[in-house]
Amino acid sequence: MPWHVQAWQRAVRSDVPSILLHGPAGIGERHFALALAAHWLCEAGATAAVRPCLECASCKLVEAGNHPDLRVIEPASMAAESEDGDGDDEGGEDKGKGKAASQVILIGQLRPLHELARITSHRGGARVVVIHPADAMNIAASNALLKLLEEPPVGMRFLLIAHRVQRVSATVLSRCMRVALPVPAPEQAVPWLQAQGVEDAATALALAGGAPQAALDNADPVRAALSKAWLRCVSDASTTALSAARDTKEAGAPQVLSWLVQWTHDLARVKAGAAPRYHQAQAATLQSLSASMTLRTITRLHRTLVLRQRWIRHPLNTQLTLEALWLDYLQATGGR
Ligand SMILES: [Zn+2]
Repeated sequence: MPWHVQAWQRAVRSDVPSILLHGPAGIGERHFALALAAHWLCEAGATAAVRPCLECASCKLVEAGNHPDLRVIEPASMAAESEDGDGDDEGGEDKGKGKAASQVILIGQLRPLHELARITSHRGGARVVVIHPADAMNIAASNALLKLLEEPPVGMRFLLIAHRVQRVSATVLSRCMRVALPVPAPEQAVPWLQAQGVEDAATALALAGGAPQAALDNADPVRAALSKAWLRCVSDASTTALSAARDTKEAGAPQVLSWLVQWTHDLARVKAGAAPRYHQAQAATLQSLSASMTLRTITRLHRTLVLRQRWIRHPLNTQLTLEALWLDYLQATGGR
């Protein structure tokens, strides 16, 4: 992506075994990590000095998501999401059962890495581990990773992606070279989104808080339908906590919470006479909703929701979590 050029050059020039990519979510960090992994694994030799060739067998395996020397470790919730995206029905069976997939990277997911460290590379090149996001590792997982980072097996490289660096353990951080991934300016992000076929790119970018990859992901018809359902819940006067929890269940509690945090941020801005930052197309709804609320109520609701973000990653019952979120919101916005 055009805004990654400098970070890319820093990363490819380095031969340290562990790199930590950090920046906000949704700016293409996963693409960056996979491209760098492809670059390290690429078998095209000299032509791959600057970037992966995308033509060799190794590059094709990375693209297909089944390179035997590449491990991408992500919370179970993310794995479930990408399965849904591929139209894979097998994961669908769990839907509707109360328990949500874990948002945390657990130690069990890191154990196979010790096995990977013992064996030689399948294709004779490097072995690469991507951890996304590294700030989602619990303490046990983090300690297990640290053992590998402290004495990296020959030919094994690590790519950690972190959105909140302060949540990554200091000892893990100390073992990595840090590469910051920047948020592009709208002047750079909007044309990129337009080139990807996103309609009304400026609005989509604002809604995603300036993160272009997130804006592109949101433009996916399935995701767009989820956000529409959520928008009906925040703006419709007949919404109850029960109905809203049901109607937004498919989006999942962390997503709904993140939308509500942005929405209440905009409510406070509109109440204070400023333009909304995220929901520019909903200025009128925000206006009428905030008219019946005090700024104090709005900021208190916003703070409550921000605090809830601390535990939202725990795999609690989705319906109950959502009902609690919606109760917060509905009580503050009019006691429905
Ligand atoms: Zn290649």
